[in-house]
Amino acid sequence: MTTATFLLAVMLALGLIACAAAFRSPRAPGKPAFILAVVSALWWTAMVLLRFGAPDLQAKVFYSELAWFGIMGAPLFWSAGILSYAGYRKMATPQATLAIAALAIFTGIAAVTNEHHHALYTGITNIARPSFAHGWLFHIVMTLTYIVMIWACITAISRLQLSQSIHRRQLSGLVAAMLMPWIANFAFVFFEFRLFNDDPTPFAFSLTSLAMLMMQEHGKLFIAPPIARDVIFNVLPDPVIVVDGDSRVLELNPAAGKLPGLGEGTVGTILAKDHPLRTWLDRNPQFGQPLLTVGEIETTYEVSVQRLEKWGRDGSVMVVLRDVTAREAAQQQLAAASRDLVVRLNENLALQNKLAEEASRDHLTGLYNRRHASKIIPELLETNAPGRAIAFALIDLDHFKQVNDQFGHDIGDRVLAGFAQILRDNMPSGGCAFRFGGEEFLVAMPGVEETEALIYAARWRARLANDAPALAPGFRLTFSAGIAIFPHHGQSLSDCTKSADVALYDAKVMGRNCDVVWREKNQQFHIAS
Ligand code: GH3
Ligand code: MG
Ligand code: MG
Repeated sequence: MTTATFLLAVMLALGLIACAAAFRSPRAPGKPAFILAVVSALWWTAMVLLRFGAPDLQAKVFYSELAWFGIMGAPLFWSAGILSYAGYRKMATPQATLAIAALAIFTGIAAVTNEHHHALYTGITNIARPSFAHGWLFHIVMTLTYIVMIWACITAISRLQLSQSIHRRQLSGLVAAMLMPWIANFAFVFFEFRLFNDDPTPFAFSLTSLAMLMMQEHGKLFIAPPIARDVIFNVLPDPVIVVDGDSRVLELNPAAGKLPGLGEGTVGTILAKDHPLRTWLDRNPQFGQPLLTVGEIETTYEVSVQRLEKWGRDGSVMVVLRDVTAREAAQQQLAAASRDLVVRLNENLALQNKLAEEASRDHLTGLYNRRHASKIIPELLETNAPGRAIAFALIDLDHFKQVNDQFGHDIGDRVLAGFAQILRDNMPSGGCAFRFGGEEFLVAMPGVEETEALIYAARWRARLANDAPALAPGFRLTFSAGIAIFPHHGQSLSDCTKSADVALYDAKVMGRNCDVVWREKNQQFHIAS
């Protein structure tokens, strides 16, 4: 056995292993074509092997002719494999495979029947190998093969830039694997390059098989083919539409095809002027507006736009829409709910203020009550400017029980309210009256000294006497008042009210209808005129 025969036998084995490995790998674009390419190359190699062992020229010529069943299949199937792996889906169809197989069989039949038509070979130029002079059919099929191989190479190389690194390596590997036998064949056809005094192409095919094996082992060929991107595009629930600068639809995925005004037939046509997407694109040259509303049952989409300059498509954009109708509705509901909440909070706040106000006021007279006095007067005392006096007058209506007894409780109430009004109407600035108890009132007058306090008390008394006929006809309405001045007669509210209370008691003892200013000793009485 010669070295050439041995080598070819090894290559046959290698090819078979490559085929078996490819068979076992998962379905991938171009996989059947690659297997058929290796099978064709195996056939070709086997025929060369048989030719080496053939006894005479006639047998050698016969095997050379039989080799043609593989000669056409190997490069064409390999090219088809590369094209479909690079994403040219039409080459992966059974029709394409059948067409190549038919061409290979046709060329094989033309070869074995060559002696009748001499279309492939016109004669033998070297009887040792043998070599042939080529006929018109040879040139046609060779030209066709070269065109397909160049197309496959250009397509694969053009896809390299857009592929992910693993697929870039796979495609480069496939192109390199095709180049090896191609270069060998080119060298043989045009430069008479020979290996073992024969065509080096079948030998080079062994490198192709080896490369395929290695790519499966290390490059995940067939295991991780570049199909997922297409699948993603097709199964993506978000509509994806590619539109050129003239608003012509270049591509859309099935999700986009379901949108109103779009469909498979839309590809290649210009979007209608009133189509929401067209309007959106026309109005948003910078694609700034984030939302787009489509359809009669309004669906709101979030729009993201990708310019396709990088992919050699100036002015074209890929529009990806995301249905955010539910999100928008939820957001609107949330906004409405929070507006409602603010309104209710304000209502509650107002109610709280009203309740607090009501809790601090006495219903009958409208004056602040005793509790409120004990809240605000200490604050008043604390913030009082040093040296500034605050007069406290504790007032008790005289013989009020008799008013109730004589006129009834309602009139009693009216007198209380009337007196409160008298206090309100005659109050120094910053002063405040409180209903302290049943018919007892406390008046706080900041900045008011003793003398002025007595003047105010006289004023209230005069007013009461004046209003008495209207409030309780025929009754002499009077009051007694005890006066204490902060800080001289007390340092706190309770001290001041205590002092005022003592003075008030004295006023009552004095016979009522008078005002008494508290003194520690030798009290002075101020009796109303
Ligand atoms: P004095 O001159 O000693 O103060 O005699 P007085 O009758 O005013 O005092 P007394 O404490 O005996 O009576 C106070 C009365 O005030 C008794 C009570 O019925 C009445 N009174 C207290 N609160 C109210 C009220 O809200 N409305 C009415 N109508 N009467 C009230
Ligand atoms: Mg009383
Ligand atoms: Mg009284």
